[in-house]
Amino acid sequence: MSEATDCIFCKIIDGDIPSAKVYEDEDVYAFLDISQVTKGHTLVIPKEHCKDIYDTNADVAEKLFSRIPKIATAIKDAYQPVGMNTLNNNGEHAGQSVFHLHIHLIPRYDEKDGFG
Ligand code: 5GP
Ligand code: ZN
Repeated sequence: MSEATDCIFCKIIDGDIPSAKVYEDEDVYAFLDISQVTKGHTLVIPKEHCKDIYDTNADVAEKLFSRIPKIATAIKDAYQPVGMNTLNNNGEHAGQSVFHLHIHLIPRYDEKDGFG
């Protein structure tokens, strides 16, 4: 796995950049996206830095993905969406803008996606 060089998500994990924490354990951190697509849009990241799905290993990926049901359920309970997208972008051409592996949890609502 690659070294973290000036990675904003590593700084969020370390508390050097503030974030709205949704969930944390020894392996995983989850926080609200700074520009939420919908109310409750959350990013779930491994604490171990890796760029994307190709740069990780089975152990880190298993820890990351194993927490998704629990975190998604907490978001569902808190915001009462009617649906939920789980999304992972790998590479600039796939829409990745922060190169620390992350899963988007995007709650979906009946009207205006929870905004307005
Ligand atoms: P990507 O486009 O790489 O799949 O998603 C990166 C996400 O990180 C974007 O939705 C963007 O809004 C979010 N983001 C970028 N910088 C920050 C930040 O400093 N804090 C938080 N909470 N989210 C960020
Ligand atoms: Zn990082």
